[in-house]
This record gives sequence, C-alpha cells and structure tokens, in this order.
Amino acid sequence: MHESKLTNSPEYRRLIRESAREFLREALKDGPFETSQLYEGFQTVQPELCNDSLLCECRGRRTDEPEWKDNLRFALDDLRRWREIKRVEPSGWQIGGTVG
Ligand SMILES: [Zn+2]
Repeated sequence: MHESKLTNSPEYRRLIRESAREFLREALKDGPFETSQLYEGFQTVQPELCNDSLLCECRGRRTDEPEWKDNLRFALDDLRRWREIKRVEPSGWQIGGTVG
C-alpha cells in the first residue's frame, strides 16, 4: 500500500485550498453540483491530497472529518466571497456571483 508523506501542516492545508479552487472553477462550469458531489469529484482527481486519514484539527477541535473536506469548504467560501460562484439552495453551488 502506498504511504503518503503528507502530514496535516499549514503547507498541506494551503495546498488543498489552492488545488480545490482550481478544481472548483473547472468542475462548476458543468454545474450546479451538491457539496457532496464536489467532495467526490475532488477526491477522484486529487487522491493523494484527499487523504481520509488526516483528520481536521482546525480551531483546536478534533473531529472524524478529513482535513481536505474542511479545506474544500474554505475554497468554496473563497470563490463565493470573490463572487465567482454562488449557492444553490439547499446545498449546491454554481458559477456566478451575487452582490453581498
Ligand atoms: Zn480543518
């Protein structure tokens, strides 16, 4: 079995977030997609980065959620704030900005 050298570091989190933004910009051209579909798609194209054994420890909490999912959501929020994408209720995303 392949052993990843990645650890849950600030560098790792920065890498996921940047990589996820690139993925989302491309993927959502064919959207809208649910967040769960975006998790699945990102893990398919970035299997090494999306290491399920590296759990989120952000803000001092320990959860059962992989860190990469946390950072994919940060990437969604970046693009939303930059008005590149917007929410589709109840849990989807599509290209397009809204004011505010
Ligand atoms: Zn986290």
